[in-house]
Amino acid sequence: MRTGSDIIVVGAGIAGVMTALHLQRRGEQVTLIDRWEPGHSRAASTDYNRVIRSIHGRDDFYTLWARDSWNRWLELQAETGQQLIYQCGALILATEGHCHWEDDTADTFDRMGVPYYKFSPSDITARFPQFKVDDIAYGLFEPEAGMVMAHRGVRTALDLFLAAGGTLKRGRVTTDGEERPMLDGHPLEADVIVIATGPWMADMFPRTIKPIGTVVGVNVFYTSTPDGDDSFDQGPMPCWIDHGQGSFGLPSTEGSGVKAAVVIPSHIDIDDSERLVDQAMLSRTRSYIQRRFPGLVGERVVDSKFNQIILTPDTHFIVDWHPQHENVLFAGGCSGHLYKHGPVFGDFVAGVAVGDYGTADRFKIAGRRKLTPQESPSGR
Ligand SMILES: Cc1cc2nc3c(=O)[nH]c(=O)nc-3n(C[C@H](O)[C@H](O)[C@H](O)COP(=O)(O)OP(=O)(O)OC[C@H]3O[C@@H](n4cnc5c(N)ncnc54)[C@H](O)[C@@H]3O)c2cc1C
Repeated sequence: MRTGSDIIVVGAGIAGVMTALHLQRRGEQVTLIDRWEPGHSRAASTDYNRVIRSIHGRDDFYTLWARDSWNRWLELQAETGQQLIYQCGALILATEGHCHWEDDTADTFDRMGVPYYKFSPSDITARFPQFKVDDIAYGLFEPEAGMVMAHRGVRTALDLFLAAGGTLKRGRVTTDGEERPMLDGHPLEADVIVIATGPWMADMFPRTIKPIGTVVGVNVFYTSTPDGDDSFDQGPMPCWIDHGQGSFGLPSTEGSGVKAAVVIPSHIDIDDSERLVDQAMLSRTRSYIQRRFPGLVGERVVDSKFNQIILTPDTHFIVDWHPQHENVLFAGGCSGHLYKHGPVFGDFVAGVAVGDYGTADRFKIAGRRKLTPQESPSGR
């Protein structure tokens, strides 16, 4: 494709803004369309922060992408002066008897030269006394990991896109019976139309995406930190993943409170549900926090968030052309781990969109199957 093509990107979450930015910087003429203001609180890319870590079981591909993304976030931070990442490290807790995924991650790190420490429970207690780990076999600590500031990341990429000459438009793209993208009752016209509508992709494309995309709600809670105590802030405390408890979390950052989720997927209607957390999940998360972090007993929930992810059967992203419309390219399929990869994902999608290369097999729509937790890049 020649440079200077007209390209429409639909959806301005992290997948869309990063794709739009890379396309615009390649010299294409890009219009980015969203139903709401980019960074809005219904999108999957909302909230303060997201974990960035290379921990992906036996999967080399995402391990490399995460390492590359870390550097790209650093570059964006240097370019804009915005605080986009914090290098507080990530600790993955391997539960006694269920350590396959963590063992595989350690093998991958050894093979690929990713720095990490393998900590015994007493090492963890010495290094991170915030954690109570009597049920843990060992911990893997990845020091070159941490968090990306989510809302800020979207807004920063958007600013760069606009500064590069891109156009932002407000509008709701729909599809007709043939799954052709439409705006205001007319088919969208462009050399390429990138669909990056995150969890909304499934309902917009009921034949093509819905069969491989399940949308679920996740409840997240922020807990206050003890008065006069900074040990639960990022820096002294890392992000963590606690597979045995189906949980993950992030230390308090910029005053947010300690963020934690016990991931029990719940029903959500992405257009109609009010974004109010579930009280049952509040109790579960509170008991989890109190068990794992005795220093937070008596602390209060100070903030919360209920939003959604779209899960593919194998938790691989979707980057593929529509089977009937040769200029419509899907870019998303978050599966709970797309945010951190944003800069590399956007670059990759831009290359596919302009025909520099084809997509990766793992990102194709066809041939999806559910993976075992050991095979899965996300351990799910
Ligand atoms: C609680 C939670 C925790 C997570 N933790 C992590 C983590 O620690 N690390 C990590 O890497 N990832 C994490 N993720 C996943 C990550 O946040 C998502 O993978 C990522 O944000 C998905 O971005 P997206 O651009 O595909 O979707 P979205 O951010 O949802 O963006 C889609 C955009 O499309 C727009 N849109 C939708 N329909 C239309 C339409 N018809 N017309 C026009 N515009 C439309 C929407 O308004 C929205 O702005 C987490 C997700 C959740 C919910």
